[in-house]
Order: sequence, then structure tokens, then C-alpha cells
Amino acid sequence: MSSSGGTLEADFVIVGAGSAGCVMAARLSEDPATNVILLEAGGEDTNFWIHIPLGYGKTFADKRVNWMFQTEPDPGANNRSIYWPRGKVLGGSSSINGMVYIRGQHEDFDHWRQLGNPGWSASDVLPYFKRAEHQTRGNDNWHGTDGPLSVSDASYNHPLCDAFVDAAVELGFPRNDDFNGEKQEGVGYQQTTTRKGRRCSTAVGYLHPAMQRPNLRVITHALTERVMFEGKRAVGVAFRESGAPKTVRARREVILCGGAIGSPHILLLSGVGPAAHLAEKGVEVVHDLPGVGQCLQDHYSAAVKLRCKEKITFNDVMMNPLKQLAVGVRYLMFRDGPLTMAAGPCALFARTRPEQATPDVKISISPFSSDNPAAGLHKFSGFTVIVYQLRPDSRGEIRLKSLDAAASPSIVPRYLSDQNDQRTLVDGLKLIRRILATRHLERYIEAEFRPGADVRTDAELLDYARQFGGTVYHPTSTCRMGNDPMAVVDPELRVHGIEGLRVVDASIMPTVASGNTNAATIMIGEKAVDMIRGRQATAA
Ligand SMILES: Cc1cc2nc3c(=O)[nH]c(=O)nc-3n(C[C@H](O)[C@H](O)[C@H](O)COP(=O)(O)OP(=O)(O)OC[C@H]3O[C@@H](n4cnc5c(N)ncnc54)[C@H](O)[C@@H]3O)c2cc1C
Repeated sequence: MSSSGGTLEADFVIVGAGSAGCVMAARLSEDPATNVILLEAGGEDTNFWIHIPLGYGKTFADKRVNWMFQTEPDPGANNRSIYWPRGKVLGGSSSINGMVYIRGQHEDFDHWRQLGNPGWSASDVLPYFKRAEHQTRGNDNWHGTDGPLSVSDASYNHPLCDAFVDAAVELGFPRNDDFNGEKQEGVGYQQTTTRKGRRCSTAVGYLHPAMQRPNLRVITHALTERVMFEGKRAVGVAFRESGAPKTVRARREVILCGGAIGSPHILLLSGVGPAAHLAEKGVEVVHDLPGVGQCLQDHYSAAVKLRCKEKITFNDVMMNPLKQLAVGVRYLMFRDGPLTMAAGPCALFARTRPEQATPDVKISISPFSSDNPAAGLHKFSGFTVIVYQLRPDSRGEIRLKSLDAAASPSIVPRYLSDQNDQRTLVDGLKLIRRILATRHLERYIEAEFRPGADVRTDAELLDYARQFGGTVYHPTSTCRMGNDPMAVVDPELRVHGIEGLRVVDASIMPTVASGNTNAATIMIGEKAVDMIRGRQATAA
């Protein structure tokens, strides 16, 4: 790392200290001969609530650690603008997410391979999931114990979650105690990316232990504005550190880890993207790459919300100062209890139609209810069961709105624009009602207050989903990997047509993983490091 005449220089310049960026910075700087500079638009991860699992309710809409994006009004969601939180802090979205540890289905990665991406099949990526993982249950064929990312069992079972599991089993769904093992299908408690009752973000697991290294420099409050090019070679980036313009040169590579919104946004601002769109916005075209910002996928969800007959929900805790105190003391003393809870402690991965080869929906239960996570919990006993389709066909896009890197780009999700997505979500809502009607859950239910008993037909349920649904925060695929004309990066994650530039984050997923997206993003980071080093893991 050097600084001459005000210009910084390193072998690798990494933009974005999120789920993937922290992996890249920590792993690349393991080699003392390699210099790395990591630029992050947000600040240090010192916010108290980041580290307490249930604190995600507090960081969910806190602009000190969150970009707080809004989509364009979306016709598929009744023309509502949907709130998209994204982490803006060391650890990125892994510092504010729901901590659920789900990798996706083996078939997802085999599909990535079939789409023209050698090296990305399920058996190819398994070693990287294992390399990342410190599985507190111990290692086996599917899990590793030597990695920085701590994966733990729930330390707290809730009667409503237990009842949900029993209900699904009664309906014939298999019990599954490891959604990341041989098969995803079934119902059970989810593991979380936590360590001894605290969040294990990639900043905690990967970056902090590496930050003392002399060959790694982390610059926070550093907003990257564009990649700098000499011809078609990326040679560095221009950024603003706490408002002051600066540049950093990359001797070997610039690596964009800005996430599914940030990375395409930076590429577009840098003149790499659909030429007509860039010209329309007044950006000089460095390379015409039509896929940048396209193929956006996200998981759109709809929820059934219920009033509970018993005062056992987290809403009840939040309404009662004595209960709050007890929960706080329990956490401080034992690091367990409700404060260690992930976003949805229990889940069912199910097929809505028997002809589906693998689960096409995820249903999960949370022992609390609210109008939306930013609005606070209801002032009555309530709980929520939510469904989302795992592999949506609807596709949206990210486009430039202004040339100011600090301003949000235009986010156009096009939710439920595909008929199969509409049908699957409606079928998922109907499946939730079947689960709720079993004796295990029925005894807790005072009333379904959303959508409500009068919403019954498929058309009414779809209408409800459009009116009240929302994201579960899994945007991907805006810099999709592949070798077709709409692909942005090749299977080694190098930007097509440009030298010295990779994208490594959730944006490169050819299709969204069937589940949550943090684990797969971390796997992508681990694999990218081996590709840069010219190595390939073989032993699974
Ligand atoms: C509220 C929420 C809940 C979620 N729950 C779960 C869950 O329970 N389980 C799960 O698996 N997944 C969950 N996810 C999704 C998961 O966290 C993300 O898919 C994953 O973190 C994406 O990683 P990434 O590296 O692609 O991007 P990010 O982690 O978002 O990192 C991008 C980083 O780049 C920085 N950046 C962007 N633009 C610039 C720029 N111009 N200059 C400098 N820095 C920049 C950002 O500030 C950020 O730190 C959730 C996400 C959210 C937001």
C-alpha cells in the first residue's frame, strides 16, 4: 500500500465492506505480500443494536447504518413504493440482516452451472460454503468448523414456533433439522449466523480479525463515485472520503462488492452499461454492456397476521416494562432468550404443486406482529406467518436517476409481473391457512386480522398480496454471471470487455438462491478469492 502525491495505491481496491467485501479483504490480505484497500461508504459497526440479534428491528430504518432505499412505485404492488433497507456500515447488509442461515438448494447451483457457468455446480461450491463456516454442531459432509462465519442453533424455542412445526408435520411435511444438509424440504428451526448470542456479520467474523494487518487498509465514510479507466482497463476508483474527493489506484484489480444495488450503480456511473441509457443520462460510454442493472430478482412476500389468544408473543414483551426487563436481564446474564431470535425462527420449505421437483415456497413464522418492521410492534398479542416464492420469474432493473453517486438509483422490481409468481404466492397463502387450521395452531388464534376471513378467492388473495406484500430483502442478479449477451461478468467474475475489474457480491447470482442470500454471497466471496489466486477447492 502506498500513497504518493495524494494518490493511494494498492494491489487490490475493494469497493464495499459488505457480506462479500469483508470476505475478499480478509482473505486477500492473508498473503502479506498483497496490499489491499477496502472502501466503505458507511462507518464502523459500533452501533450497539447491530450486535444484539433482535436489534435488527432498531437498525431496520436507521440512516446511520442503512441506505434506506425506496423502489419506484411498482404496478405489481398496487403502485406502492417499497422500502428496501441495505446495510451502509462495515459488514454491509450482514450487519443489519435477519441472520437466518440458508444456503439455497443444491439444484440452484447445478442450474447456475447449466446456464453456462463452469465451476459453479453444487459440488463445486460446497467446499466454499464449508470453508466459510464455523458450524457449532460440528463438521460433517455438508458443514465445516474452521471458518470465520459462526453458524448456531436457536437457543430459544417459542410455543408458537413449536406449534408451527407440529402443524406442518401433521399435514405430512417432513421434519428437517438441517436445511443446509442433504435436502432443503421440510419444516424445522433455522440456524443463524450468530456466535454465543451475538450477531456474526462478515465484519465480525472476517474483517475485524484482519484489520491489524499492515497490508490491509480500511477506509470508512468513503463513497466510491466511479471506476477510473485507461482504455478498457480499470486502474482505480474515484471516491469521496467524508466529502473530500480522492482517488486510489489499483495495481492488479478493482473489485466491486457494492451489492445488488451498489455495484450496478457504480458501473453505470462509470460508463459501463447499456449504451443508449448511458447516453440518455449524459454518461460517457466506456463499454456497452446491456445487462448492467438488468435481470433484477427479489423475493416478494405476503403475510397472514393473527391475534393471539395467549399473552406469549413478543408484542406482549414490548408492552410490559417488567417483561422487557426480564428479557434484557436474561440476555445479559445468559446470552439467550427472545433477544437472540432470528427474523423468522422456524420455516417450512414446501412444494405448492406435486409436479415441482423441489420446494418452491418458504413459509416462516414470527412470534410477533407489526404493520411493517419500521412501525413497531402491535399493541396487542399477535403473530405472523409469511410466505415467499423461492424462484420468481419476474425481473426488474436498476437504472440511473441522477449522476450523483450519493443519490439512489431508480429501483424497478416489477413484482408479480409473471403469472406463475402470482399463482405461487396465492397458493402459498392458502397453504399458510391450512397450517393455521390445524389443532396445534388453531388453539392460539383469536382472529386472522390480515388478510381477514372475508378475503377468500384467488383473485382476492392476489389483490391482498399486491396491496400489503413486501420484500424479504434479497435483491440479486443485477450484474449476472454468464456468457450470454445480457451477462455482466464471466464465470471468473471478471466484467465482460473490461480488464482489471471484477464484481463479487449478490449481484452476480445468475438466479436468486432458493432461500436467504447471505450465505451464498459469502460463498461467492470465498470462491472469488481462490479464482484470483488461480486455485480451486476440490475436496468437499
Ligand atoms: C433487513 C435485511 C434482512 C435480511 N435478512 C437476511 C437473512 O436473515 N438471511 C440472509 O441470508 N440474508 C438476509 N438478507 C440478505 C443478505 O444480507 C444480503 O443478500 C447480503 O448481505 C448481500 O451481500 P452483498 O455483499 O451483496 O451486499 P451488502 O452486504 O449490502 O454490501 C454492500 C456494501 O457496499 C457498500 N457500498 C455500496 N455502494 C458503495 C459505494 N458507492 N461506495 C462505497 N461503498 C459502497 C455498502 O455500504 C455495503 O456495505 C437480509 C438483508 C436485509 C437488508
